Amino acid sequence: MARHLITSAIPYINGIKHLGNLVGSQLPADLFARYQRARGNEVLFLCSTDEHGTPAELAAAKAGQPVADYCAEMHSIQSKIADGFRLSFDHFGRSSSPQNHALTQHFAGRLDDAGLIREVSEKQMYSHADGRFLPDRYIEGTCPNCGFEDARGDQCDNCTKQLDPTDLINPRSTISGSTDLEERETKHLFLCQSQMREKLQSWIDSKADWPILTTSIANKWLNDGDGLQDRGITRDLDWGVPVMKDGDVWPGMEGKVFYVWFDAPIEYIACSQEWEEAGKGSDWQRWWRTDKGADDVTYTQFMGKDNVPFHTLSFPATILGSGEPWKLVDYIKSFNYLNYDGGQFSTSRGRGVFMDQALEILPADYWRWWLLSHAPESSDSEFTWENFQQSVNKDLADVLGNFVSRVTKFCRSKFGEEVPAGGAYGDTETALIAELTTRIRAYEGHMTAMEVRKSAQELRAIWVAGNEYLQNAAPWSVFKTDPETAAMQIRLALNLIRLYAVLSSPFIPDAKDTLMAAMQTSDDSWPDDVPAALGVLQPGHAFTVPDVTFCKIADAEREEWQERFAGTRD
Ligand SMILES: [Zn+2]
Repeated sequence: MARHLITSAIPYINGIKHLGNLVGSQLPADLFARYQRARGNEVLFLCSTDEHGTPAELAAAKAGQPVADYCAEMHSIQSKIADGFRLSFDHFGRSSSPQNHALTQHFAGRLDDAGLIREVSEKQMYSHADGRFLPDRYIEGTCPNCGFEDARGDQCDNCTKQLDPTDLINPRSTISGSTDLEERETKHLFLCQSQMREKLQSWIDSKADWPILTTSIANKWLNDGDGLQDRGITRDLDWGVPVMKDGDVWPGMEGKVFYVWFDAPIEYIACSQEWEEAGKGSDWQRWWRTDKGADDVTYTQFMGKDNVPFHTLSFPATILGSGEPWKLVDYIKSFNYLNYDGGQFSTSRGRGVFMDQALEILPADYWRWWLLSHAPESSDSEFTWENFQQSVNKDLADVLGNFVSRVTKFCRSKFGEEVPAGGAYGDTETALIAELTTRIRAYEGHMTAMEVRKSAQELRAIWVAGNEYLQNAAPWSVFKTDPETAAMQIRLALNLIRLYAVLSSPFIPDAKDTLMAAMQTSDDSWPDDVPAALGVLQPGHAFTVPDVTFCKIADAEREEWQERFAGTRD
C-alpha cells in the first residue's frame, strides 16, 4: 500500500474564495486524494487557513472584531463551505494554531543555529495616528515618476514603476488617511536564502519529472539578476507568531512577529499535529520525518502558479536549512488561472461566482464536474454560463443521468426491482468489456499523473461507452422476442451503474453515494478486473430506481445567474 501526503495551498483567512481559487488548488487536490483512497492507498490530505498578516488585522478592524475572533469565525465559515464542496481534508487546520506557533519558532531557532539568520536594520514608515509601522502597500501617495495620486508604497499602478514608500510625494496611511508619518529605524531577522542557493539548485535539478512551468519559475528566481535574495522573516505587527527562540523572547525582537510567508507553509506540518491532537489520527511524524517512517511517503502539493516560488524555494530553504530530516515535496502540481466570462473574478466588484453563492444555486457535483473537466492546466481557462450549462446538461444529465434512469426504469417495468437472471454475453458485450478495460486503464494513468482534464475526458468516454452499448443492444426491442437476452443486457447495465459510481467518485462524490444507495450495495472496490466488476450485482439482487441524478439547467436559469453574477461595472 502506497502512502500519499497531499497538501493544498492554504487559502487566506480574509473573505470567501471564488471558483477560480477553488479549482487552482483545493479541488484538484481533493480529486487526487479521493482517487488514491479509492485505490486502497493510505492518504493524509491537509489544508488550513492562512491567518496572519496585515490584511487579517484590517479586515477584523473593519468588522469591528478582535482579530482572533474574526479569524475563528472566518475559519468556521471556510470550513463549512469546504464541507459543502465535499473537500475531503483529513484535517482543515489553522496557521494561528499553538502547534504552528511552536513549530515556526522551532524552525527559526534551528536556522539561526545553522548560521542562516542575520539581523538587518531597516528604515520603515511609522504612522503616529495608527500607532504602528505600515507595510509598503498600506502607504499611498503621489508617484514621483508620473504624478499619479494613488500610487502604492511598493508600486505605481499607473506607470508600473517599482517604488519605495520614501519615494512617494505626500505619503499617507491607507488605514487612517493620516499624513503624520515618520521614517523610523527598525530591526528585522532575515533568512539567508542566498547561502542556500547551491543546495536548492541541486535539489531542483534532481526533479527531472517536474513540469517545465514549475522548474523554470524556480530557476528564474534562483539565478536571475543577483540570484536568490535574503528575505525578511519578521514584521512589526501584533497579530502573528511572536519572535521567540527556545521559549524566550529573541533578543532585540521584542514585540515583533514572524512574517506570514515564513509561518504559512510550516502550517502544512503543524496541521498534521493538529490532526493528531484532534483525535483523527496518530503518529504525525510518520508522515513528515524521514527518520521516523516518512521515507516511503510520496508528498504532492497543489497550488496556483503564483505560489510556485514559495514552494520551490522559500519553504524548501526553511526545511533544508534546518538540517533536520523533514520530508521535502516530491511533486508540485500547479495551475494557471480561471477567468470569468470575458474578464477576471473580482471580489471588490462582486464579479463572478464565489464558493458560498455557488452552493446556494446548485449542488457541489455540478460545480466539481465543470471545474475539474475545465481545469486551467496548460493555460488559463474561462468560465462561461453557456459552457457550464452545456457541460452539465450533456455530460451529467444526458450521458450519465439518463443512462441510470433508462436502465433502472426499464428493469422495474419488465423484470421488477431486482437484477434479472438468464442469458449469456455475446460479441457486443465482449467488445464493450474490452473497450472499458482499455479506457479504465487509461483513466488510471491520467489520474496517477494528475492530468485532470484528460482524466475527465476519459471518464466521460467511459459513460458514453455504456450509452452506446444500450443504444445498440436495445433491450426494449429485444425483450419482445428474446427476454433472456434482454435480461442479460439489463443485468450488465445495472452493474455498469455500480461501476460508474466507483469510477466517478473522485469527481462527483455525491452522485456516487446516490447510485450506490440505489444499487443497494456498499461494494465500492476498484475494477482491477473489469469482467469481475461487472458481475458484482448478482441475479436476484434488489435495487431501487433513484430520483433524477442530475437536473438540466434551463435557459431562463442560466440567464438569471449570468445577470446576477455580472458584478457592477466600473
Ligand atoms: Zn507612476
